[in-house]
Amino acid sequence: MHQVEFKPEQHKKYFRRSLDILPSESAMFDCSRLTILYFVLIGLDVLDGLDLLTEEHKRSIIEWVYGLQLVPSENVLDHKCGFMGSTTVIHLKNYPSCEKYCESNVAMTYMALCILITLGDDLSRLNKTAILQGVAALQKPDGSFKSNYEYGESDLRFVYCSLAVCFILNDSSLINVNNTIHFISKCLNYDGAFGQNPGTESHGGSTYCAIASLSLLNKLNDVINSKKLKILERWAVNRQINGFQGRPNKDPDTCYSFWIGATLRIIGSLDKINKEKNKDFVLNNANFLTGGFSKDMDSIPDPMHTCLSLCGLSLVEMEGLSPINPALNITERATNHLKQIQH
Ligand SMILES: [Zn+2]
Repeated sequence: MHQVEFKPEQHKKYFRRSLDILPSESAMFDCSRLTILYFVLIGLDVLDGLDLLTEEHKRSIIEWVYGLQLVPSENVLDHKCGFMGSTTVIHLKNYPSCEKYCESNVAMTYMALCILITLGDDLSRLNKTAILQGVAALQKPDGSFKSNYEYGESDLRFVYCSLAVCFILNDSSLINVNNTIHFISKCLNYDGAFGQNPGTESHGGSTYCAIASLSLLNKLNDVINSKKLKILERWAVNRQINGFQGRPNKDPDTCYSFWIGATLRIIGSLDKINKEKNKDFVLNNANFLTGGFSKDMDSIPDPMHTCLSLCGLSLVEMEGLSPINPALNITERATNHLKQIQH
């Protein structure tokens, strides 16, 4: 495998196009269009390509995102506030009989906040109290968090999203942080990595969620002592084939260049991998006709793998890409904007 040329302009065009039109296979994401917007905008920011959007376009995106915010009202209960994933579902709030289905999802809330920060918004139109109450209502007695109030599943993914929302809003006072740390530590396996729930197989995605969560809480050392850190480092470094796999005996997939790469960056061990091999794998999964990255050679590009491929390339210092904040998965530029509006 030889390294193919990196064509940032082509990937910018791929993202720009994805804002207007998507292939018919994407129809199933209609209820979570916010996730596509998140990957497109974070990816564009990593490419330093947000100037491709006019100020008016940015403003209209910000309006669209704020339109997905559920605030307390007759039909929306306090503990269900936060963000929904699409205008397709937000209209439910106008129908009293749909009360049960009118609820936020903490992954959508996390992504909405990241989008607003990335576009330079000052978050002043958020109902912060309602969002934080919504997050707190998702916490279970074992310290984990559900995705949404009714029937939501709970695992490390939603622990991460909940903690990231509290971090961005600079307020963890409504959640039980100690219980959360206890839950995360129970997901740690003998091989040094984390499963999605206690007793489940270690996985690159859940390991990222655990390590990024602890990093946001500034409690990494409380759960991972130096001996455990070495075991985790060995597990993560051994996931490299050329690119990275999510679990042993699986094929490599471009998104794990971010999930595992960011994990290694947070624990200070990214220099232990073969960065050039990783770059080769990711660049070889770029589509040279349409732009964008796919998860592997047999797939078509999608916004998620394009964004996470670029974040993975940024971590290994690919020239021309903006540095990212590995624990929040937004750029350092956007993180600095967040710091400014937090004060
Ligand atoms: Zn993937």
